[in-house]
Amino acid sequence: MPDRRCGAHIARRAALKLVSFRKEGTVCLGILKDDQVVDVSSASDNLAGSPMPASMSELLSLGASGLEAFRQLSESASDTHAMSEVEMLAPVHDAGKIICIGLNYKDHAEESGAAVPEEPIVFSKYTSALLGHGGEIELPSVSEEVDYEAELVAVIGKKARHVSREDAWSYVAGYACGHDVSARDWQLRKPGGQWMMGKTFDTFGPMGPALVTSDEVSDPHNLAIRFRLNGKTMQDSSTCQLIFGVDEVVSYLSRVFTLEPGDVIFTGTPPGVGMARKPPVFLTNGDVAEVEIEGLGTLRNTVVGP
Ligand code: MN
Repeated sequence: MPDRRCGAHIARRAALKLVSFRKEGTVCLGILKDDQVVDVSSASDNLAGSPMPASMSELLSLGASGLEAFRQLSESASDTHAMSEVEMLAPVHDAGKIICIGLNYKDHAEESGAAVPEEPIVFSKYTSALLGHGGEIELPSVSEEVDYEAELVAVIGKKARHVSREDAWSYVAGYACGHDVSARDWQLRKPGGQWMMGKTFDTFGPMGPALVTSDEVSDPHNLAIRFRLNGKTMQDSSTCQLIFGVDEVVSYLSRVFTLEPGDVIFTGTPPGVGMARKPPVFLTNGDVAEVEIEGLGTLRNTVVGP
């Protein structure tokens, strides 16, 4: 079971990296292998005798046996592409829910001028915010303060309701890099004090490039996490600094609603965001935004507009 200690690194096996992408108008499922996209779903019309899943949520719904059948099929799949040749989608482009945890790193709460929370702070994005690796983050014409936030994303693999913290790990299918793009003017200066509108503009939920299965991530609470803006490191921390870990968050959320396969949880961002800098730094047209998490790869998106 993962613990919360910073420091010791444990050797990992080669990860199974699941991807969703669009090729000639069709959504396909595959794996990343040496930075090449292997089209697995087109390699057969069935998966272990059942119809080929049409999406990552459907694949995850098949559980461990479905993933194992998918892995075996991937070994005979020969249709490979560079990531730049296809349109990479968020690994779970059909996520049922996108749940986000706010102020979940102590230093980030402090730089935001907020109290360190005693219970998870929860908000959400709509699925229209999802964006894949290589996609363009669109700056809205109605915001002047679009900020970046590198985040570890956990993906649910099994229906979860009222699960204990101890059992929570078995409901997590895997992890991905996420970017909680945030319009601060809409998040912080609208009536009512709710954050969601500033967080859910279209394209404000980049995720990817792949969903790395949890059996390949030995300790999700001990991963280096970084954000780079045009090559310059702006956030540099570790998920060992999370206030509420993945297990606590899954357990907490499951007391309120049912988590389903393919639901995604953005777990919060470390310090170094643009609004806390003097002077503040906000995203502008042409910027290159990169989230890198140890073992999960690098999620890269360009910024366009308005
Ligand atoms: Mn966030």
